[in-house]
Amino acid sequence: MTRMSLMIVRGECPGGSAIAVEPRGRNLECETDCSGRELRLVESATAASGRAASPKDGSFRPGHAVCPGVWRRAKAGLADAPTSVQDSRVPATRKWSRLLQSVPVGVAVLLAVVLTGCTTTQPGALLKRQGDEIIVAGQLFHTGTRVVTWMDPGGYDAYRVERRFAAFDQSSWETSKVAVAALKTPNRYGLRQDNLTPQQLESVRGGGWELPLLREKVDQFVLHFDAAGTSRQCFNVLHDHRCLSVHFMLDLDGTIYQTLDLKERAWHATTSNTRSIGIEIANIGAFAPGQQRMFEEWYQRDDSGWPRVVVPTRLGPTGIRTPNFVARPARKDPVQGVVQGRTLQQYDFTPEQYAALVKLTATLCKVFPQLHCDYPRDAEGKLVTGKLPDAALNQYQGVLGHFHIQSNKVDPGPALQWERVIGGAKKLLR
Ligand SMILES: [Zn+2]
Repeated sequence: MTRMSLMIVRGECPGGSAIAVEPRGRNLECETDCSGRELRLVESATAASGRAASPKDGSFRPGHAVCPGVWRRAKAGLADAPTSVQDSRVPATRKWSRLLQSVPVGVAVLLAVVLTGCTTTQPGALLKRQGDEIIVAGQLFHTGTRVVTWMDPGGYDAYRVERRFAAFDQSSWETSKVAVAALKTPNRYGLRQDNLTPQQLESVRGGGWELPLLREKVDQFVLHFDAAGTSRQCFNVLHDHRCLSVHFMLDLDGTIYQTLDLKERAWHATTSNTRSIGIEIANIGAFAPGQQRMFEEWYQRDDSGWPRVVVPTRLGPTGIRTPNFVARPARKDPVQGVVQGRTLQQYDFTPEQYAALVKLTATLCKVFPQLHCDYPRDAEGKLVTGKLPDAALNQYQGVLGHFHIQSNKVDPGPALQWERVIGGAKKLLR
């Protein structure tokens, strides 16, 4: 293994046209003879002289192996490094290269690696996730907020057929289907098969969705409150007792759980299941005035005078991931409003839930072009507070509540701040 100090002026990924450009005046120390994926040098320069070296230069032969994963900033020479390589020989058509040359070295190297896809692919190398990714047709998308998938420790796996919370020796599907009458099928989810051609059906029946096809089929994001209080309890109810499913759950502390790839048809919103993504937001629910017995059990005011959520001990572990988290509604008093023509009261969701929901909503609206970042509005632009007429629901593409889909549902309730969610998501999308 040899070491040398050099500047990458231009490099090229194998099989690709993308190029990496090392910014002006910065030296990197690279290790050669890397056995990983190689970045072909097209142009380079020595740090010592600053002169540009052509591919024919004896020091830097075309195809010379450089491993971006082991680039290190040389401690010496950063301040007074030569800049002569930023010359007119860089083609005008590569203006983005010049842009890269003007940013700090760390950012530039990161950008170069991201843009070129030139990462180490040595056998056994770990591809690390950041913990904010959602999974859509097998591909990962960042949300900027914590996401625990069904594959992660502490996640909730809606693909499994056994019950999650039953005694282990009673949890098998064979035992569960006898013990719980509602569990009719091992899978609590299905295939988004409406309006597929026979060829498309054949290609996705095994689960292998292409992202472009999925993007054609998904155009609604349905918000629910879970009426269970916590995501752990929500999954217990859906998976172990009701034979239902939902793509996401949003816990009191703002943790998002993804239980299924979005390619799956989760069972959460009847007529909209095929075209929608669903989220159950932890909240005990909305009740008619005078019937809020649940509030007394779930909300207690402490010395601050602000209510806090107290998960009843009868439910066992809360499952909330943030240690010692204190969940408080975003507004102090129960919010009263009308849904489906009924007056209801509900404690608001937590600020942590709003923050996460804003980011997830923006992510989904970006990933799915037909999912518009808006909510059902009346002629004056105000939220529709009941079920949409069938024709309007059929036409609707965007974020909506369960109550917009079914007249027998009131979730996500009168407390949900639609403008906070949609306005926040729109800001992120600008
Ligand atoms: Zn619902």
